[in-house]
Amino acid sequence: MPSTEKLPSGRWRGLYVDAEGKKQRVKGTFPRKSDAREAAVDAEAKAKRKAAASDGTLSASVTFREWYEQLSDERRFESDRGVVEASVMNKYVFPKWGDEPLNRIKRVQVNTWVKTDLKVRTGMSPGYVHLIYSAFRLVMTAAVDQEILDASPCVRIALPPLNRRKPKKFVTTERAAESRGNFGDDSGVYADMVDFGLEVGMRPNELAGLHVARIDRKGRKVHVVEVYVERSKKIRGYPKDGDVRTVPMTVRACEIYDSRIEGRDLKGGCGVEHYDGSKCTSALLFVNREGRPANQPALRRAMKRAGLDTGGYGLRRGYATRAVEGGADVMAVKRSMGHADLEELFGYVQETEQSEDRLRAALGDKKPLRAVGPRGTKRGTKRGNQPLPDAPNNGVTNAG
Ligand SMILES: [Zn+2]
Repeated sequence: MPSTEKLPSGRWRGLYVDAEGKKQRVKGTFPRKSDAREAAVDAEAKAKRKAAASDGTLSASVTFREWYEQLSDERRFESDRGVVEASVMNKYVFPKWGDEPLNRIKRVQVNTWVKTDLKVRTGMSPGYVHLIYSAFRLVMTAAVDQEILDASPCVRIALPPLNRRKPKKFVTTERAAESRGNFGDDSGVYADMVDFGLEVGMRPNELAGLHVARIDRKGRKVHVVEVYVERSKKIRGYPKDGDVRTVPMTVRACEIYDSRIEGRDLKGGCGVEHYDGSKCTSALLFVNREGRPANQPALRRAMKRAGLDTGGYGLRRGYATRAVEGGADVMAVKRSMGHADLEELFGYVQETEQSEDRLRAALGDKKPLRAVGPRGTKRGTKRGNQPLPDAPNNGVTNAG
């Protein structure tokens, strides 16, 4: 029987009897007797269930939550999954199934839950629905494994189809060149940022925070260190994931640098507060007409005006695609872009006809008979006799 005892401190402790008939203390103490008693009742019930489960006599009317808690106690789940799982349980699974006895959870209800409760929630991706459902299913399957249930209700459940990865838009050098005059900015800074971004693959906030002193003009290299944090309007001393890196500069990148610094005072500091409080002694390469950082939203707006509707990351994808298509070593591209792994880089490299031809050539195919100009000049060409499914328009190649 659950009971309580009063401690010399004036607080209360819960006591209960475990499955072997031994008296046990509930962990922790409580200011009120009723709370201590409640904790003791819970602990005793839990101990009974645990014992019942281990000798195979746990009732199928145990609730979903009780069963889950017991599983967690027994560390049946891998620990690194635990955090995500617990949050998914609390947010989506318990509100629906927590108090339901396991043997009353039926396939039809599960199906309806997945189809309506989960699927229609705005902004919830099919992948997340799969995640929630698999956490739920794991618990039910464990109940079958331990012979608490005869069968799992998690069969023939209609899950939403997973999105296939959509090709993302990117900017080609050709389109950037064609759009030069359309940025709606007579200082030319955004057109320069676009061109520079396609040459070095930097993130938009890295371009906005690029200090002139970080450019080794002689060595033709950019050291990517600072970023401009748009939200706080401050300079941070390290890029995403802390990946300070050095990127080679092309001839075109050097040209842009040269024209950008011409006639400017480069030693006066950037005029933006640095997070670490250090006194800045270098100008930013890309500033607007007011001498302020050419920031990410402004770049995006200017690109949109010019018909380059890809956002700043379209430059990064453009860079990755160009570099890989041009035959660059994938590891070198990864280093330049500061990627943690190749998988991430592949997300940036957009498949193009050239890359397919290159692969065929690497495998020994002769060069295709149709005329292929230098990279990226084949907008509107046909793939065999079939029209491209997504003919590129407004300069933004939608690789498909
Ligand atoms: Zn600075």
